[in-house]
Amino acid sequence: MRTLLKNCLVINGRKDTIVRDLDLYIQDGIIIHMGKNESEDGYQTVDMHHQYVLPGLINLHAHLFGSGRPSKTLGGGGLKDQIIAVTANRPGRDVLDRVVYGNVMNALHAGTTTIRGVGDFHYSDVRVRDAINAGKLGPRLLVSGPAITCPTGHGDGSFAVVGSTPEQMQQLTQNNIDQNVDWIKICVTGGVMDATKKGEPGAVKMTLEQTKAICDYAHARGYKVASHTESTAGIQVALDGGVDTIEHGSQLTPDLIRQFKDQSAALICTLSPAVPLANLPKEKTMLDELAEYNSKYLFNEMAEGVRQALAAGLVVGLGTDASCPFVTQYGMYRELIYLNKIAGVRPVNCIHHATEVNASILGMSDSFGTVEEGKQADLMAVENNPLEDLNNLRQPSMVVIGGKIIDHPKVHRNAKIDAELDEVMKKL
Ligand SMILES: [Zn+2]
Repeated sequence: MRTLLKNCLVINGRKDTIVRDLDLYIQDGIIIHMGKNESEDGYQTVDMHHQYVLPGLINLHAHLFGSGRPSKTLGGGGLKDQIIAVTANRPGRDVLDRVVYGNVMNALHAGTTTIRGVGDFHYSDVRVRDAINAGKLGPRLLVSGPAITCPTGHGDGSFAVVGSTPEQMQQLTQNNIDQNVDWIKICVTGGVMDATKKGEPGAVKMTLEQTKAICDYAHARGYKVASHTESTAGIQVALDGGVDTIEHGSQLTPDLIRQFKDQSAALICTLSPAVPLANLPKEKTMLDELAEYNSKYLFNEMAEGVRQALAAGLVVGLGTDASCPFVTQYGMYRELIYLNKIAGVRPVNCIHHATEVNASILGMSDSFGTVEEGKQADLMAVENNPLEDLNNLRQPSMVVIGGKIIDHPKVHRNAKIDAELDEVMKKL
């Protein structure tokens, strides 16, 4: 299969602000050549009419089962109980898999061509990934299966499996490896919804011994480890234990910054759940007073942490934490806008973080994450220049995944959530 995308204004995913007018020659899913006004022989030509073409976005932190609708029982509460009840049997798991597939297709139609799933129920993400890898249309998925946590830790009783001793932790890691996961996900600290004290959304839950047991075991078998980590003390435990990606984050110390660099660890910024929960009134978020306080607290900590990380030149990836309240599967573009508004990152660099940097954190930047010869044709096209306004990423006019074209993609949106978020974004 050979396709020629003519007249593309290319934003390549690097820190390159120059938009170049190019024709992209795609064969067997790969961009084999980029030129201008060369031979079209043997190619099926699509005129892009000078639309902006950039790498598909990569979402490094998503839970693929949820819609982002806020509920009274937060932290996956009501949703969690429903999922656990429904998925107790095989037909239930088929329902869950269909929901997950619908969600990742919605993300794909919104321009997200790669997603790392970091906590599922009953390996639904693994099954959906396998179906896509076997030829079903969909985004690239890298999945962790269920997260691994300790008793009362984050995810206990929902998207995580629970162990205590180092041997149990390693057995849980092996169980996930047996199911062919791509990453190992752990939860070193608690979260906003399971905190019991003000100012403690990131209470350290897992011990250094537990963390290290998992990281050593995973690394010895070629797997990387991501950790839900929402406090400075938690980051210390996670890095000491050998974690590769610190999810969410918090304020950093000079010593921690040095440790990130020494260990080549990355910070995965997820402002998408923090912004609405910290900025919308309680009636809308349905948070109780403690959770509202801790949301604001965590928002400030995370924002400071990502500013520090960027200033220090750490590797900063982006994810949305989709399925959290007010975080839809199709909202990756908002994470770029939050990074722009809250950390002062220029639009071209926001795109760079969401594409090339995220691909490098996955260890896959040789294969995708930029618009370059030899890379996968994972692309999104938009009519107006996203370097002038990142909101222009909201509705792609075309998405390409491994050379397969989705023309006029259709995103199923939640109008109510979008309206609330648009209001919040105006005030940032
Ligand atoms: Zn998460």
